Order: sequence, then C-alpha cells, then structure tokens
Amino acid sequence: MYQFQDLAIHLSEHKCWVLLTPPVQTILHNYRQLGPFDHEAGGILLGYRRGEMDFEVILATEPTPNDKRGMFSFFRSSWHHQDVARQQWMKSGGTVDYLGDWHTHPEDHPTPSSTDRREWDKLRRNSPRPLIFIIVGKVDIYLEGPNKKGHRFLLYNSI
Ligand SMILES: [Zn+2]
Repeated sequence: MYQFQDLAIHLSEHKCWVLLTPPVQTILHNYRQLGPFDHEAGGILLGYRRGEMDFEVILATEPTPNDKRGMFSFFRSSWHHQDVARQQWMKSGGTVDYLGDWHTHPEDHPTPSSTDRREWDKLRRNSPRPLIFIIVGKVDIYLEGPNKKGHRFLLYNSI
C-alpha cells in the first residue's frame, strides 16, 4: 500500500491553492492510461471552496458503464455525475461544490486538446464560480487554474 498525503499545489500566478486529498489522488492514479488498450476516463471534481480561489478537492467521480470511453475520447453521461454532485451538495448542507472536471490522456505529459479547450470554455461560461481542470497523463498531471494557465506536476513522487 502506498501512503498518500494531501497534495497541495500552489498556482502562484493565480494566487490560488489546490488541495488534492488522498482518495482523489488514488482515483486519478488508478485511471492512468498506461496500457495501449486502456480507455480514456474522466469525471467531475467535488469539494470545498476556501475563499474565492482556493480549492480542496475531496471527491473525483469515476466513470460508469454509461460513459462512453474511447481510446482518445471520453464522453460523460452527465446525469450520473450531476447526481453525485447534487447528493454531495445536499449531504454537506450546500458546502461541497462542483469544482471542475478531470479526464485522462494516453500521453506522458498531457496537453489540453482543442476539444478540451472548447469544453472547458463552455463550462467556465456556464459556471458562476471559478473552475479547475485536470488531465491525467501517464507520467504527470496537467492542472489548469481559473485563469486558463496550466501546470504539470508529478502526482506520485513516492512511487
Ligand atoms: Zn482531453
């Protein structure tokens, strides 16, 4: 068993912090597209907003059989993920919020595709609050903060 700790990422030019809790790191890690036939996976990120620009991610939803998973594409069946979001929001008395999306890419050092850009722009336009986005690559993780600047970092230094 790996021993994970909360991973705190400081996006300095955003003046923002993103905290990934161990269960979230584990889920992202487990869905890395390592094999040639692994499919893209993805879901939504849920957690707490600590102030306007700080995010504590406590849950990443996992793909369901209703999600169409291809090797180079991932189409979310949004009702399931929205349902989880609504349940968490209710259960927490309205404190656990939708923070953004995650998905995997079959590349070592992931870069957002033009489809990702379009999708994220749409989500940003429709969200009253700032969002973050994560792409899980084979080696590292791409994290984009609210001002559309991304950073790559290693999620699992301990492995
Ligand atoms: Zn993508």
